Amino acid sequence: MQVSEIFYSIQGEGVNIGVPAIFIRLSGCHLRCVWCDTKYTWPLKAGKQMTHQEIISEIKKHPSKNLVITGGEPLIQQKELKEFLEKIPEYYVEIETSGNIYPKLGKTVNHYNCSPKLSNSKNVNFSLKKFPKSKTYYKFVIDNPQDLHETEEMVAEHNLDRQKVILMPQGTTKDEVGPKMDWLAELCKEKGFRLTPRLHLEIWGNQRMK
Ligand code: SF4
Repeated sequence: MQVSEIFYSIQGEGVNIGVPAIFIRLSGCHLRCVWCDTKYTWPLKAGKQMTHQEIISEIKKHPSKNLVITGGEPLIQQKELKEFLEKIPEYYVEIETSGNIYPKLGKTVNHYNCSPKLSNSKNVNFSLKKFPKSKTYYKFVIDNPQDLHETEEMVAEHNLDRQKVILMPQGTTKDEVGPKMDWLAELCKEKGFRLTPRLHLEIWGNQRMK
């Protein structure tokens, strides 16, 4: 697989926040979010080509059995990713995806974090594909209170379970994210959505993980 980076850290967002996990960041993304903080992953040739065995040797250096497959858009490489995951059934696998590519990973995945793109990302014609209901949470990146209207439209269109909808402030620095948490908390109370901080920014800032 084409791998941008592998590192051991703490899941900083979503319902599994705080859990120590090994991150495999795959190369390639077909979207172009203006606020993307991993633009270095966009080219499919970014990073390096690694065999399954090389990746397994790397992840086995760490004590956790939680794996977060992120990107980029990891589903671009899902055919090979599925073959890789079938070799490590002992890991709890969480996939971070935009939700724009239909998943074909079957039982190899325990949890999907879909992050559908609103117009604040400046992508045109984003469409959310169908994901397994029992395994999927939807994380919306919110830049200003007006983004809620669009979020509600997507929730209604796809009949998403509100308890599985998570709002996350847009921002790549602690100072940018912090003030948005205040009004987002109020909106979550009013609308019945979940709220997630960006824990890794609070701990390590926006430095690239190694
Ligand atoms: Fe960046 Fe993710 Fe958007 Fe791709 S989908 S441009 S990796 S934020």
